[in-house]
Amino acid sequence: MSLQVKFGLSYVAIIIAVLVLMNTYPLTASEDLVFRSKESTLKNSVSVMTTALMGKEILTEENVAAALMVTEETGISRVLVTDESGRILYDSRETDSALGRYAFYTEIVQALHGDDVFFAAYEDGAFHSRCASPVIYRSQTIGAVYAYEYDTEQATLLHNLQSTLLHFSEAILAFVIALSFILSRILTRRFGLLAEAIRQMREGDYGRRASVGGHDEIAEIAGEFNSLADRLQTTEEVRRRFVADASHELKTPLAGIRLLSDSILQTEDMDSTTVREFVGDIEQESERLTRITEDLLRLTRLDSGKNDAAEPVSITPVIERVAHTLRLVAEERSVDLSYEIKREATVRAAEDDLHQIIYNLTENGIKYNYSGGYVRICLAGDDETVVLTVEDNGIGIPEEDLPRIFDRFYRVDKMRSRAYGGTGLGLSIVSDTVRRRGGTVTAAAREGGGSVFTVRLPRAEGGGEK
Ligand code: ADP
Repeated sequence: MSLQVKFGLSYVAIIIAVLVLMNTYPLTASEDLVFRSKESTLKNSVSVMTTALMGKEILTEENVAAALMVTEETGISRVLVTDESGRILYDSRETDSALGRYAFYTEIVQALHGDDVFFAAYEDGAFHSRCASPVIYRSQTIGAVYAYEYDTEQATLLHNLQSTLLHFSEAILAFVIALSFILSRILTRRFGLLAEAIRQMREGDYGRRASVGGHDEIAEIAGEFNSLADRLQTTEEVRRRFVADASHELKTPLAGIRLLSDSILQTEDMDSTTVREFVGDIEQESERLTRITEDLLRLTRLDSGKNDAAEPVSITPVIERVAHTLRLVAEERSVDLSYEIKREATVRAAEDDLHQIIYNLTENGIKYNYSGGYVRICLAGDDETVVLTVEDNGIGIPEEDLPRIFDRFYRVDKMRSRAYGGTGLGLSIVSDTVRRRGGTVTAAAREGGGSVFTVRLPRAEGGGEK
């Protein structure tokens, strides 16, 4: 059963329950009211008549007629008076009078037994009320007075009320059915829009958004869905670009290897020096492939969020190790590599992470430098934050490239990066690793040429600082 039908049916069910109540309760209540008023007036009239007949030793047609002459009763349809055997001594109805016959109405029989009886019913559009009381002489029942009232006037009123209520209810019901249809349609149409958007996105249309208006819960769900879709779309675009870039990066060295090996195979009598040279090139290309795959694996690990367990790591030994490893490379390029520890620092990370960050930044400083240039690593910071800067006076990064420098495979100068064995992934690894450890990294141009990279990481509490 669709949501629209469910909503519609529940509205209608509620209103039907209300209408049934509206059509029954006021009617039974007013019926009850009429009965009670009838009871009091009829009993009153009968009591007036029995009082008039009181004191008589025996009831006869004559003395009853004489006594009742004075008690003209209005509003009563018929009055009967019987003697103790039930024989009718007086009948207010002139045509078809029952005078002299025996009355066997239950009420009269009960009155002759000494009870006051009242009975009322609403039948065939009229109120029928019957009342009977015994006539007593010296504790002896000598007869009974019976009064019957047939009232159509109040019955008509009640009937009118009933039909007015019914018409009114029919109108309300029709209105509610129409309204519930419209309302549930509006409501479910918006759910439908949302479901349609979700379906299309599941089928791969990542640009799809749900346009559901309003300020209610459905609009809120649609809003949440749209932001989820934004995220998915961005992730999907990044993933696609990454896969395309990665394949492209892997293709280049592979093509080189193929070309070189083809040349060796197809050139007869190639002299051994050229062969060695080509094989050397092949080796270089495979080293490049290895570096790219290693970097890719590292990035994938970072993406999956599988960090090495964090432990307090002192930074100075890591800086010393990096400086030691890269000293030869720096000397080869005539770049001066130095470091300065202004304030010792311990951070919560994996040692390998820190090594990767400092190594990549320092290696870049050496790679993108001039002969005679310098790279300086500096460790400083305050009580909360550790600030690590890697500064060089090398070729620098153009202002317009700065915002994209941490993107995967982004290089300012592709040829230069390749020439130095760069993969274009070094800074992405730095930025992802820093972020995973709760820090930030920024790149800026250094005054007077060169660049400064600044890494900020939260200081580990109680770390061994001096
Ligand atoms: P690569 O493997 O190419 O070095 P990175 O991600 O480490 O990749 O760096 C991206 C690009 O940023 C480099 O190709 C280079 O153009 C530029 N770059 C990085 N560090 C520096 C630096 N210290 N000075 C000048 N340019 C730099």
